[in-house]
Amino acid sequence: MPLVSCRLCGKLFTSGGPTVCASCLAKLDDLYPKVREFLRDNPKTEFNVETVADVMEEDIRFVQALVDMKYLDRDMETRVESPTNKARERLASELQKSLRDMKDAAAKREAAKDVAASYGQQRHGGNTVKKS
Ligand SMILES: [Zn+2]
Repeated sequence: MPLVSCRLCGKLFTSGGPTVCASCLAKLDDLYPKVREFLRDNPKTEFNVETVADVMEEDIRFVQALVDMKYLDRDMETRVESPTNKARERLASELQKSLRDMKDAAAKREAAKDVAASYGQQRHGGNTVKKS
């Protein structure tokens, strides 16, 4: 396994993928519920990585790492500016898809109504002719 330096503390360690060492990962696991709670307790305030780190007096690199490592995706995807806007893009494409589905469904409903209407007209027309 390659030797990499931890992006948070700079310690060298062997890793097959993550660039955060085990002890920093433990710190992130400890920090995560605190940040989540903090965000939950302050739902009306706009935060980014910098202000969260500032207000909580935590190391900004750790808060940033939580975002980068997707810890906080569910909690702050619309609130913390992530370097990639993937969450937002995903949301937008899902919205577009559901709009498309709605349009499709409406078109199908229209088509079904047309069929039903012409069918009803024929029947109705036939009946009225017979009755009168
Ligand atoms: Zn580390």
